[in-house]
Amino acid sequence: MTTTQPVAEGLFTWPPTGSAPLRLIGSECTACGLVSFPASPDCVRCASTESKERLLSDRGTLWTYTTQNFRPPSPPYDGPRAFEPYSVGYVELPELLVEARLTEPDPEKLRIGQHMLLTLVPYTVRDDGTEVVTFAFAPAEDPAESEQETP
Ligand SMILES: [Zn+2]
Repeated sequence: MTTTQPVAEGLFTWPPTGSAPLRLIGSECTACGLVSFPASPDCVRCASTESKERLLSDRGTLWTYTTQNFRPPSPPYDGPRAFEPYSVGYVELPELLVEARLTEPDPEKLRIGQHMLLTLVPYTVRDDGTEVVTFAFAPAEDPAESEQETP
């Protein structure tokens, strides 16, 4: 039997369930309303130390992207030794820009402004067989376009 773990605690809802679907966990400053991700106890805008948890939207649009063509320096990178290029990008959520992996490794199939949906992808497998997952964004349908198709 294998177990699955998130790459880090507090980055996204875990485990995602039907009543608590996958969302990134940010923080919202209770003084000025600034939303941060990853969650931060101190506000970078007003220096308040009061914040509350804020679940972020799971949909956004692709703001910019690039391809990670080499294995990032280790540490801190602790992914698999056999490195495969992947895409990384900034996804514009209603709340803020989030840097994330993209599920589509082929930059030819990505375009700025396309709709993206939050998902989980395999990150690495530990020596004890534990599968580690991290969050990523996958190309998604334009919700406005799919609404037009249904009367
Ligand atoms: Zn603030």
